Amino acid sequence: MSVQGIRRLGISFLLCISAGAGSCEDLPAYDLLLQKGHVLDAKNKRDDVMDVAIKDGRIAAVAAHIESSLAIKSVDCTGLYVTPGLIDLHVHVYASTGEKNSYAGDLSVWPDDFTFRTGVTTVVDAGSSGWRNFPDFKEHIIDRSKTRVLAELNIVGAGMRGTNYEDNLDDMDGKATGEMASKYPGVIVGVKSAHFTGPEWKPYDQAVLAGNLAHIPVMIDYGSRRIERPLYELLATHLRPGDIYTHMYSGLRGELDSKTNEPSAAMLIGRKRGIYFDVGHGGGSFAWDVAAPLMKAGFQPDSISTDLHITSMNAGMKDELNVADKMLALGQTVPEVIEEMTAHPAREIKQDALGNLAVGNPADVAVLRLEHGHFGFVDMYNTRLDGAQKLTCELTVRDGKVVYDLNGMTTDPWNAAPTSDPHLSSHWTTFIERPFGASHHVQPPRPDAATDHDHPSPANNPATNAPGQTK
Ligand SMILES: [Zn+2]
Repeated sequence: MSVQGIRRLGISFLLCISAGAGSCEDLPAYDLLLQKGHVLDAKNKRDDVMDVAIKDGRIAAVAAHIESSLAIKSVDCTGLYVTPGLIDLHVHVYASTGEKNSYAGDLSVWPDDFTFRTGVTTVVDAGSSGWRNFPDFKEHIIDRSKTRVLAELNIVGAGMRGTNYEDNLDDMDGKATGEMASKYPGVIVGVKSAHFTGPEWKPYDQAVLAGNLAHIPVMIDYGSRRIERPLYELLATHLRPGDIYTHMYSGLRGELDSKTNEPSAAMLIGRKRGIYFDVGHGGGSFAWDVAAPLMKAGFQPDSISTDLHITSMNAGMKDELNVADKMLALGQTVPEVIEEMTAHPAREIKQDALGNLAVGNPADVAVLRLEHGHFGFVDMYNTRLDGAQKLTCELTVRDGKVVYDLNGMTTDPWNAAPTSDPHLSSHWTTFIERPFGASHHVQPPRPDAATDHDHPSPANNPATNAPGQTK
């Protein structure tokens, strides 16, 4: 064993002693316990006030009551919703290349900037990369993000880099796309076609070919509206049950029947066949005069997603919870919108361990507050619908550890004795806890923390998503 390894062992032994326990085996049964929150977990049919216990990054128990003494850290979630970590099924986060005017570049956002603060623990990048540049996307974003980043591969090999690339029929290779997707099961979870302006069916049919090869769904942004390829035909024949139609409330491609102001025949046949419908709000894909009549006719979304990118992030669309608020304003219930951000998107991308709180699954959890008041919600045309409810994220847990805490609900007052052992805090939080009474200047180094917390050294800042891992 290396000197460093021995040192590390010594430090963990000391931590166990200082915890007042004879050995590490005497640690409490759970690391983190979220108590008295209203648990919404549609997949496991939970809609009640319950306690959720977490151990070693996994859900360990969900029950009506779990004793505080069984956990290192207990958190009172009275009055709040406790839900599976939210899944945003449509984002653009390939921000690392420096390419101008490209979703494989400057038009994308960095994932961790926008996720945990809205309860999102998993995002699905919707086609920013294709089979040619996916390895680069994986190396520079997926493997380095604290957020779980999954990907739908663009059917265009070069990815989402502007019309010249995205209209290039010669670079739409279903076989190469399917083969790349097959190499990364659980990371590449779909195939995307987007922004195509031509009259051909090739992008959609090649995407389905890739989807068949890798056993994954296809998500369609239907590009320019072309008389040669009507929406009805796409949804009635070209797509398979389980494929995903995004931008469902844009109204740009015949989603609403303009004569009846009802869902078009295309949307009805699609839903009947089992095509999933995704919001994909974005900067230009959510209109009140489409969403309101579709919702009035009962055409609810299967999944709520943002289509987050640099031109949508500060416009009518604010973030994942803001899109959920819009659906609340249109009459959906809190359990419905939570299901559309958890169990439903997980089902669409066939990731059974995500979007629910079953024992043994990754402990990704959101704690949300429903605020009541006067709020305004803005669409792509800068028009507003007023609403009386708004969801706010109080706490986000990723892989069993606190990664976001809006009002410090997991913390102790600075001038009071701690309520849990600071030496054990690394079991339940990613944040530094200073032992009570210890001076700044004599704080002992910890094995998992850099000395300079604002500027951690590379050695202390490991990537959290190991290759091929779907934690
Ligand atoms: Zn998009």
